[in-house]
Amino acid sequence: MLGAPSFPQLHRGKGGRVQASISTENSQPETGLALTAHEDRSLPRESRCGFSTPRVTLKVMRTVYIGMGGNMASWAGAPEATLAAAAQRLESLGRMTRRSSLYSTAPVGFAAQPRFVNAVVELETELEPRGLLEGLQGIELEFGRDRSAGIANGPRTLDLDILLFGELKISESGLEIPHPRLAERAFVLVPLNEIAAGVVVPGAAKTVGQLLTRLIEATKAISDAVVQVRSKVSADKEIGGWPSYREK
Ligand code: ADP
Ligand code: MG
Repeated sequence: MLGAPSFPQLHRGKGGRVQASISTENSQPETGLALTAHEDRSLPRESRCGFSTPRVTLKVMRTVYIGMGGNMASWAGAPEATLAAAAQRLESLGRMTRRSSLYSTAPVGFAAQPRFVNAVVELETELEPRGLLEGLQGIELEFGRDRSAGIANGPRTLDLDILLFGELKISESGLEIPHPRLAERAFVLVPLNEIAAGVVVPGAAKTVGQLLTRLIEATKAISDAVVQVRSKVSADKEIGGWPSYREK
């Protein structure tokens, strides 16, 4: 549990922008939960900038993990290039703080299709879960995602899934968090483990690393199914615009 946040400390930032910082008694670094405050621009300027009657809207900043995948070329190029370009677009939804390597993975569920390229990125976002899902679906469409073929787990230019959303657990129509198939998918757990091994998965009472160990013990076949794309990724700084591991 978080301790009660202190009253926001207001500062005048660049361009007269009001900034606020809030401390909590017990922050939780593994989820990166943080509060930020924003100036309410609907108010008259005097009240916005004056410290006598400040009004701020508190927003919760959460650490989320997005699974990325694709196995068909998009306008950006091959799946590696699509994931790199899509990762840049994700910056419009939050601040990217980590990204895994790229992985070449065997298709799951529908075998007669090319191997996928998968990765996981960590974002800090102020968006609500629905807002984030809509943003991700908008980016999927930008890269030519076409759901009309309707083959479950079929070929796609870009798939963006919310894997974890801070400590939230959500089960609604069209939105389930943590992602319901996370614990059984090596192509998700392996890249997620690379950047978030110690993060506890809400509802599972296990860390990502523990879930991966359990999956490896159960299947004994992950090494063939999920292969880190080594060629240039780890040696060079970038491949197809995909920066190296844990780029900050
Ligand atoms: P999948 O990712 O399972 O291959 P789709 O990308 O076609 O399948 O997503 C199917 C639906 O899953 C979406 O319309 C979306 O509403 C829903 N969905 C439920 N939970 C999530 C989540 N955590 N992340 C992304 N989509 C989700
Ligand atoms: Mg999806």
